[in-house]
Amino acid sequence: MKRELGGKGAGLAEMSRVGLDVPAGFTLSTKLCALYAEADKEGKGSQLLEKAGAVMKEVEMGVKFIEKQMRRPIPRGSSSKTSKDGELPLLLSIRSGAAVSMPGMMDTVLNLGLNDVIVEGFCSSPTTSEAERRFCLDAYRRLLDMFGDVVLSIPRVDFESALTEMKRARGVATDAELTADDLRELCEKYKRVYVDRGKTFPSDPETQLRKSIEAVFASWKNPRAVKYREINKDCAGLEGTAVNVQAMVFGNRDDDSCSGVLFTRDPSTGEKKLYGEYLVNAQGEDVVAGIRTPENIDQLAVQFPRCHKTLVDWCDRLENHFWDVMDIEFTVESNKLWILQCRSGKRIGAAAVKIACDMVDEGLITVPRAVLMVEPRHLDQLLRPRFDPGDLAGDADVVAKGLPASPGAAVGTIVFTAADAEAAKKRGVDCVLIRVETSAEDVGGMHASCGILTARGGMTSHAAVVARGWGKPCVVGCGDMFVNERDKTVRFQGCDAKFKEGDAISLDGDRGLVIRGSRALIASIADNGDLARVMRWTDETRRIQVLANADTPADAAIARANGAEGIGLVRTEHQFFSSPERLRAMRSMVLASDDAARTEACDRMLPFQREDFEGIFTAMAGLSVCVRLLDPPLHEFLPPKKSQELDRVARDVASNAGEKDVGKILARAERMREANPMLGMRGCRLGIQHPSVTAMQSRAIFEAAKACADKGIRVKPQIMVPLVATAAEFSHQANVIRDVHAEVFAGVEALPFEVGVMVETPRAALVADKLVRAGAQFLSLGTNDLTQMTFGFSRDDVGPILKTYRENGILTNDPFERIDELGVGLLIENCAMMARAAVRELNEQWQEDQSKPKGDKTKVKIGVCGEHGGDPASVRYFASDRVALDYVSCSAHRVIAARLAAAQAAARELDAL
Ligand code: ADP
Ligand code: MG
Ligand code: MG
Repeated sequence: MKRELGGKGAGLAEMSRVGLDVPAGFTLSTKLCALYAEADKEGKGSQLLEKAGAVMKEVEMGVKFIEKQMRRPIPRGSSSKTSKDGELPLLLSIRSGAAVSMPGMMDTVLNLGLNDVIVEGFCSSPTTSEAERRFCLDAYRRLLDMFGDVVLSIPRVDFESALTEMKRARGVATDAELTADDLRELCEKYKRVYVDRGKTFPSDPETQLRKSIEAVFASWKNPRAVKYREINKDCAGLEGTAVNVQAMVFGNRDDDSCSGVLFTRDPSTGEKKLYGEYLVNAQGEDVVAGIRTPENIDQLAVQFPRCHKTLVDWCDRLENHFWDVMDIEFTVESNKLWILQCRSGKRIGAAAVKIACDMVDEGLITVPRAVLMVEPRHLDQLLRPRFDPGDLAGDADVVAKGLPASPGAAVGTIVFTAADAEAAKKRGVDCVLIRVETSAEDVGGMHASCGILTARGGMTSHAAVVARGWGKPCVVGCGDMFVNERDKTVRFQGCDAKFKEGDAISLDGDRGLVIRGSRALIASIADNGDLARVMRWTDETRRIQVLANADTPADAAIARANGAEGIGLVRTEHQFFSSPERLRAMRSMVLASDDAARTEACDRMLPFQREDFEGIFTAMAGLSVCVRLLDPPLHEFLPPKKSQELDRVARDVASNAGEKDVGKILARAERMREANPMLGMRGCRLGIQHPSVTAMQSRAIFEAAKACADKGIRVKPQIMVPLVATAAEFSHQANVIRDVHAEVFAGVEALPFEVGVMVETPRAALVADKLVRAGAQFLSLGTNDLTQMTFGFSRDDVGPILKTYRENGILTNDPFERIDELGVGLLIENCAMMARAAVRELNEQWQEDQSKPKGDKTKVKIGVCGEHGGDPASVRYFASDRVALDYVSCSAHRVIAARLAAAQAAARELDAL
C-alpha cells in the first residue's frame, strides 16, 4: 500500500480504518507522479491534469467526499459567497508523501481555497469576532506565501522580508503579535509581490487545487529531493510522490487549539512514555520552525486534559496496530483532537535495542519481529566509539551545552555552510557543520559532515530529525552560541576565544556538549543486557554462518569478539608490507632471476608468514581459518617505474643475490609491467608460474598449524586458490599444496585441512560442478572481482561511470556495494546449484560403490568473502531461501551488523508465515 499511496497516504488511510480522527481526504497515487514526470519531460506536464479529464473528475469526487465527511462545503468559483453566514469555508491541504519518508524535502500547500472575496465575506460578517478575523487573514497570508513559493516559484524571501518589515514597523517580535489589520495589510503586500514578479494568484479554488497538485508532483524532482534520494539508499527505485488532498484543521484557530509532534516512546533512550512538544495557537509548521519555544508534551495533560487522554489512548492503539514506535503529528482545533500523520519513529541504536526487547516483553511483538525492528546501522551506532563518559563539569574545554539531539562523538574542523562541508568531505577532511538552524537545503552538507551543531531548534527540529535518521552526532538549540555566518566565525557565552572556519571542535551528542579542540575517543559503551539479548535472538534465528575477513592476529581477535565463527579470508599480501625486512624478502622473490634465487627468497619469507599464521590460528583457536594464496600482480610490490626507490631496491636485490648486473634486474621489473594487470599474471596464474611461492605459503600454513597443535590449540586450516577459471588450474595448485602437506606431516599424524576455490571469474561460477569434482572442498565467492568481471567495470575507475549511470537511472545502486541480484546473482545462484548437484551425485556414487573404503561423505561449503558479505541488503539476499549460502565473510567491524542482517532474512520468512 505504501508503494502506491506513499507513507503518509497509507498511514492516514490506516489510521482512519483503526478509527482515529483524521481530517477527511484522499490520495493520488505515486503512479500518477511517474506519469506526470513522463509528460513533463515532453514539456506537457502542466497540461497533464488539465487534459486528463478523468483524473480531475476523480479529484472532484474526492472533494465531494471530503465535504460530506466534514459536513461543510468547499468554496467553488472565484466569487464564492459561501462564507456570508460568517462561517469559514472548508479549506484544503495538499501534501506530498513518498513511499519512504523524506522529511521536508517535497512541498505542501496549506489553507487552500481562500481568495479576496471569501476572506472579505468572512471578515465583514457581523458575527465574526476580531480573533476569527485575525485567524482568517493569517491563513490567507500563509496561503499566498506557500502558493507563491511552491506553485509559482516566487522566492520565499520576498514574503519573508515583507513579514519581517511588518514586525519591525509594529515593534513586535513574533507573528502572533500582529493584529488582524496588520495581517490585512500584509496580505496586500504579498499580493504586490505577485505583481512585481509578474505572477497571478488564481482566485478560483479549483484552479488553486489543480495547480497545487501539479506542483507537488513536480517537487519530486526538485534538487534537494533528488539529492536526498541520492544519499538515502532506501529511496532507490521509488516511483514518485503521492499527493494527499485533505481537509484543513486549525491549530491556530484560538487558544483552545494547538499543534504538536510526538513519538510514542523516547527515540533516544527507548523509554516508554510520550516524547514530544506542542505549541498553543499555532499551525504545525511553526512547531518545527521553532519560532516560539514549544511546550513539553507532559504539559498537554494540564492544558488540554481531555485531548491528552485521547492522545495517550490513540498512541497505544497505533503501537498495537503497527507493532512499532510511531512518530505522530497532531492538531487540536478548539479542543478537538485530530491526527495528521503517523510513521515509524526513527530512533537511535540504544533506543532501538531497548524498544525491541521491551515490546517482546510486553507481548506486543514476536522475536522475529524484534529482529526485524533493529536495523544494522543501529548496531553500528551503538558500538561506535565515544568520549570518556567521566564528569566534564568544570572542564574548561567545554564551551557550551545544547540539546543532545543525536548521540555519538564527532571530532572535526568547523565549517559554516553546507557547501563548505561538502568541499571538506571531498578533501577527506572531517568537519563539524555549525548553523543557526538547518533546512532541507542543507542535507547534502549535513551528510558530508561528521557532526552537526545548531544554535536554534528543539529535539524535533530539522537538524535533529535528519541527524538521528543517519545516526550522526548532533547538538541543537545551543543558545549560548553566537554564529556569524557572514564572517564565518562563532563565539560562545563565557568563552573569550572566537572560533573560525578550520578550527578543531568536538561534539558530544550523548550529552549535548560542545568541546574545544579535538577530544580523544574511547571504545563504545558497555551493553546493559539488551544488546546481548538481541544478538542472541539473531544467532538463534539466522541460518547462515558469519565469518570474518582478517589479515592479522589483532583483526582476528576483534572479529572473534564480534562473534565471527571463523575467518573466511586471510589476505596474505598485506603481511609483506608490515616491516622493511619482509618487503625486502618479497621484492627479492619478485625480482629473482631464476628458481634457485626465488626459492632462496621464499625461504627468507617463510618464517614471517609462519609467525603471522600462528598468531591468527591462536586467536581463532577451535574455529576455521581460510588463507588465500598470494593474489595481486607482483609488481604491486615494487616501487613506481623509473623511481630512485626502484633503483635502490634493484641494487639491494642484486647484492643479496650476488648478481653484478643491476640493469638486468631493472629490465626484469620493466618486463613485468602489464597493460591490464588486473587481468594479468595474478591469482593462481602466479602460483602456476612459480609453484615455489604456493609451496612456501602452504608450508608456512601447515607448519604454523602443527606448531599450534603441538601446543594443544585446535586449528582448522583451509587454503583457498584465487582467480581460478578452470578445474585444471585448481588441480595443479591443489597438488602442490597436498605434496607440501605430506612433507610437513611425514611420519607424524597429519592434521586435516581443506582446499578450495575462490570463485571470482564468471567461468568458475559456471563450472562449479567441475571444481567440486576436482576436489574443491569449499567455494568462496569473491564478489568484488566477480562483479568487476561480470559487468566489465574496472573497480578502480568506475566512479564517474556509476555517477552518470545513477543520474540517468541506468543503475540504481552501486553494484560493488550492493550485490547485483539480477546478473551477478544469477552466477552465484548457478554456482551454488551446480556445486550442490555435483555433491549429491558424488555421494550417490559413493553410496553405491561398495569396493571403495568408506571415507567421509563429500561436503562443500559455499559462501561469500567479497565486500558484499558485510552489506546488510546483500547479506539478506545471500541468506534468503533463493540462494541459501552457507556463510558470508566480512570485515571484522561489520560482523555484528552482518549477523543481524543474516537473521533478518530468516525472520522475514518466519514473519511471513
Ligand atoms: P512533511 O512531509 O514535510 O512532513 P506535511 O504534509 O506533513 O509535510 O505538511 C507539513 C505541515 O503542514 C504538517 O506538519 C502540518 O502541520 C501541516 N498540515 C498538513 N496538512 C494539514 C491539515 N490537513 N490540517 C492542518 N495542518 C496540516
Ligand atoms: Mg509531516
Ligand atoms: Mg580477487
